[in-house]
Amino acid sequence: MSKKKLAIILPAYNEEPVIQKTTKVLSDLLKSLVAAETITDDSFIMYVDDGSVDQTWQLINRLADQYGHVKGLRFSHNFGHQNALIAGLTEVTGSDVDYAVTIDADLQDDPQAITEMLRLAIEEHKDIVYGVRNDRTSDTAFKRQTAGLFYKLMNFLGVKTIPNHADFRLVDQRVLAAFQEYQERDMFLRGIFPAIGFNSAEVFYARAEREAGETKYPLRKMLQFALSGITSFSVAPITMVRNMGLAISGISLLMLIYAIVRYLMGVTQLGWPSLMVSIWFLGGIQLTAIGVIGEYIGKVFMEVKHRPRYLIADRRD
Ligand code: UDP
Ligand code: MG
Repeated sequence: MSKKKLAIILPAYNEEPVIQKTTKVLSDLLKSLVAAETITDDSFIMYVDDGSVDQTWQLINRLADQYGHVKGLRFSHNFGHQNALIAGLTEVTGSDVDYAVTIDADLQDDPQAITEMLRLAIEEHKDIVYGVRNDRTSDTAFKRQTAGLFYKLMNFLGVKTIPNHADFRLVDQRVLAAFQEYQERDMFLRGIFPAIGFNSAEVFYARAEREAGETKYPLRKMLQFALSGITSFSVAPITMVRNMGLAISGISLLMLIYAIVRYLMGVTQLGWPSLMVSIWFLGGIQLTAIGVIGEYIGKVFMEVKHRPRYLIADRRD
């Protein structure tokens, strides 16, 4: 069987404490795959430095000197994890790379799973292989709970995602080409790949603790990310407020009939409490509805500007 060229893409934002270790682990993995004649010896590791403010870029350069198969891209400033992944994938699209694997720089995803990903791609002709965590004990209970809730919500809204799959996956050139057809600014990759389709498989692994440094996904960013996922793939929230509006209109009609009947029966009321309740209730509903619609209009605004998703300031081959 012919050998395949592999590119491992790692987004890195202030990962100075870990990338040395990460490079060593991945480099050993590449070596063993080359020795097993699975991959070519020009397979490589590519860091995408997402505008780090520590010594990450200097380290990447030093690692490139030290290891022949380390490359790097550097953004002009922080464009976010998803854009770093997009840049790496775009870089290898249409090249002689057969398979691209994206993995976090902090070694939380088990690099050993890459061997099985390659096997599924080569022997079983899978175009996408998703890395799925079968053990989240290294995450806090809060993160587990909120993540579980998020996947349920996405499922409820009709968005196809792979539960417990983050952005650790292997894709081939067929998928990379299809991926370039998706040109939206605000990309939620975990929804895009299942939407691309083709043949896919899953590989399970235990998620480890972060090797060093700390998470770049605090709660605020996590919520923003979840919201972006929902609004990128579903207009269900708009449908929901519309249905809510219809239901409330129905109820108010019934209330009107009730008031007329009471009036005909000779009962007159001052109506102060009911008036206040309706005003506040409807006011709240209206503001919520405007807010939901506004969220989508804001998104349209961001999309129509068609600004670049990232800017590359520097590269190291
Ligand atoms: N990351 C990035 N840009 C950002 C935030 C994070 O490139 O703005 C990278 C980070 O360096 C890491 C990956 O995305 O390689 C996942 O981030 P992290 O491990 O902090 O998230 P967690 O695993 O805690 O969800
Ligand atoms: Mg992490």
